[in-house]
Amino acid sequence: MNIERRHFGHTLDDEQVDLFTLTNNNGLEVQITNYGGTVVSILAPDRHGRFGQVTLGFDNLQDYIKKSPYFGCLVGRYANRIARGKFTLNGLEYTLVQNDGENHLHGGLKGFDKVVWLAGEYAGDGEVGVSLHYRSQAGEENYPGALNVRVLYTLNNNNALKIKYQATTDQDTVLNLTNHTYFNLAGSGDILGHELTLNAGRFTPVNDTLIPTGELRVVTGSPLDFTTAAVIGDRIDQDDEQLNFAGGYDHNWIVNESDDALVLAATVYEPASGRTLETYTTQPGIQFYSGNFLDGSAAGHGGVVYHRRSGFCLETQHFPDSPNQPHFPSTILKPGDLYSQTTIYRFLSR
Ligand code: BGC
Repeated sequence: MNIERRHFGHTLDDEQVDLFTLTNNNGLEVQITNYGGTVVSILAPDRHGRFGQVTLGFDNLQDYIKKSPYFGCLVGRYANRIARGKFTLNGLEYTLVQNDGENHLHGGLKGFDKVVWLAGEYAGDGEVGVSLHYRSQAGEENYPGALNVRVLYTLNNNNALKIKYQATTDQDTVLNLTNHTYFNLAGSGDILGHELTLNAGRFTPVNDTLIPTGELRVVTGSPLDFTTAAVIGDRIDQDDEQLNFAGGYDHNWIVNESDDALVLAATVYEPASGRTLETYTTQPGIQFYSGNFLDGSAAGHGGVVYHRRSGFCLETQHFPDSPNQPHFPSTILKPGDLYSQTTIYRFLSR
């Protein structure tokens, strides 16, 4: 197994940014930059052992800084939306930036996706990786508490890319971390022919601004039922209120009903290449986003233009807007507590 570190560029504030290339014994290669803790590239084998690009991303730092729709990055402090950018904690109201219509999205104007993380190479037992650290000051993006956040990405010889998140705070706060990698297991074209299975019988329906209504709804009989493998494109344009609100799939499914065990949350199979992606997580939810807002304005790896629905995300997370929904699993982190979550993306072919 191998890990290489090289210079990737400089931010507008002249901070140096590096690119780490991890390779396992099967030849699977993952590139990660400490700008936003971003997964830049993943080369994974098809059923004939041919390697291809399976993520959406750019070859250079400047494109990430200027025009990335959250390609591959870490998201924090709060992944997904907080209604009207407001929440109350211990009787105090906090006002966050409204950067998605009236709502707060993905941690604000300069979230964890746009900061430079301290990075180091990591070598463990049968795995190589990148360890990332970011100290978020109290009041950053108007969230309370100073946070120490650590993310460890590792690759092993089972073709598993593991993301381990840990954080502590010095004051009560809310936290919801995820990774925003867009996948396309065919390497180009749209993702409508991919087959998805979600290990989830319920989801959190949203209103027309994509804020959960608070209901936990069973998927049975709806186009959001992926309890058995279904082709993503088969029902995506059905006249269904939930799909209409989001322009396709962009919802939180409930994958861990009771505890924080590591469970298989999602499996995606791409029939032409045979490439398969399994997603395991300790988190209670997963946002399946079908790339509805991609608009062809960005081209990335190999000159591929990223049109609508040319990538999908499986963002493991706590439920959107949990700080305003007391019956959702809590996203409050207190001093002395250790925030700890793990997600694994594993590549297979069949
Ligand atoms: C959200 C989408 C949003 C996208 C931004 C996803 O996590 O669910 O609604 O447009 O991120 O790239």
